[in-house]
Amino acid sequence: MKQSCHDVVIIGAGFVGVATALWLQRQGHRVTLVDPDPFAEGAYYGNACTLATYANIPVATPSVMKQIPSLLLDPKSPLSVRWAYLPRLFPWLLRFLIASTPSSVERIARDLAGLLSQANNAFEPLFKESDTYQLLASNGAMYLYGSHESFLNARTDIELRRRNGISIQELSRAEISDLEPHLNPIYQRGLLFDDARHILNPLKLLTSMAGSVIARGGRIVTSKAQAIERLSPTELKVSTDGVDLSASKVVVAAGAWSRQFAAQVGDKVPLDTEQGYHVMYTGAQNLLSRPVGWNDVGFYMTPMDSALRAAGTVELGGVDNPSNPRRVKLIADTVKKLLPQLNDYDAEWTGYRPSMPDSMPVIGPSVKDKDVFYAFGHGHLGVTLSGITGKIIADLISSKTPDIDVQPFRVDRF
Ligand SMILES: Cc1cc2nc3c(=O)[nH]c(=O)nc-3n(C[C@H](O)[C@H](O)[C@H](O)COP(=O)(O)OP(=O)(O)OC[C@H]3O[C@@H](n4cnc5c(N)ncnc54)[C@H](O)[C@@H]3O)c2cc1C
Repeated sequence: MKQSCHDVVIIGAGFVGVATALWLQRQGHRVTLVDPDPFAEGAYYGNACTLATYANIPVATPSVMKQIPSLLLDPKSPLSVRWAYLPRLFPWLLRFLIASTPSSVERIARDLAGLLSQANNAFEPLFKESDTYQLLASNGAMYLYGSHESFLNARTDIELRRRNGISIQELSRAEISDLEPHLNPIYQRGLLFDDARHILNPLKLLTSMAGSVIARGGRIVTSKAQAIERLSPTELKVSTDGVDLSASKVVVAAGAWSRQFAAQVGDKVPLDTEQGYHVMYTGAQNLLSRPVGWNDVGFYMTPMDSALRAAGTVELGGVDNPSNPRRVKLIADTVKKLLPQLNDYDAEWTGYRPSMPDSMPVIGPSVKDKDVFYAFGHGHLGVTLSGITGKIIADLISSKTPDIDVQPFRVDRF
């Protein structure tokens, strides 16, 4: 069958947008990425750098719901909420609650595991094309638990991972100390995901991938997309702050800012944000050999190319919520307990995960316009899942059947 070549405009040049551009080019399409602030300080920059192919457990689980009052009220918990935002967040929270039933969690964990199982394969050609293998480390990833109780609380999740084919090694205190001798042994138990990888510098990876897009004839337009309009049965227009861009297909990959575009096309999506934080310790990367997650506060400490980064926690407060110094302090104070030899951090950051209430991304066509495609809502997994998302979107635009059933990720699943 002859494949037609489309002019595709992609709104958003984070990992999902750029990976989608590369996969579309691989299938013969012409691409334009549009972004008001490309390769700056978005979620693509400040994340915890893990390719977390083991992270198939949604945020909303029965165990989280049981602990929700203490999670929301304890200033030292992984989760916080901006109370003034609560009325706007309410519909999202309601769906979060609905997604937390045991049967929903079982289904979501299975569907996410299916997508995650393809993540590395779909990323591989992108690493190759952008010549970025040197930005990858393959030394596994670890979760640590500060008490027997918190490890016990994780038991259901551990079994759910195993049922979905994820390899996990349970670690004693002595085993943790052997693997990460610089850590202060305030932990009780741990988990090792031994086949996990991480990125040494996500921004370098993203800019190299974007360099490949340009080298293959793609364009990056620095402008804010405003609206998607249909001009004719075969032509769409993306109007921006600057030029108007004509396209036969449009992909919405604007992370936490994607909802407005779906609404313009007529699709209602419960997309919100889980804001996260990081602090950086320049030169301290040799203290750890792999990303180490501290479960009780919900962040990772990740050795990068020239720094140690501690990144994570969740704040529910919308995309206009400014940085909250209490969340930064919580991460920095906890890091100091785990690695007392560190000096003070030398940079801090906040960013906005694009989050759906069921922790599953939206990947697939609009219900209202067959030429508009959605690739957003990847929550805690947007770097990890960017390659496979790009591949699925490119397959759909090329009228090929993706290797994975995309029904669970459809925009109208709520
Ligand atoms: C603290 C923290 C730790 C994380 N750790 C990990 C991790 O270890 N592993 C992992 O896989 N994921 C992690 N994530 C999640 C990951 O960073 C996100 O899921 C991912 O960055 C989302 O990618 P994206 O391309 O969809 O969106 P983004 O990276 O947010 O990019 C969206 C882009 O759209 C652009 N945009 C917005 N509005 C417009 C507009 N109107 N017109 C055009 N462009 C627009 C923005 O400027 C931005 O460049 C973490 C996130 C946080 C906050």
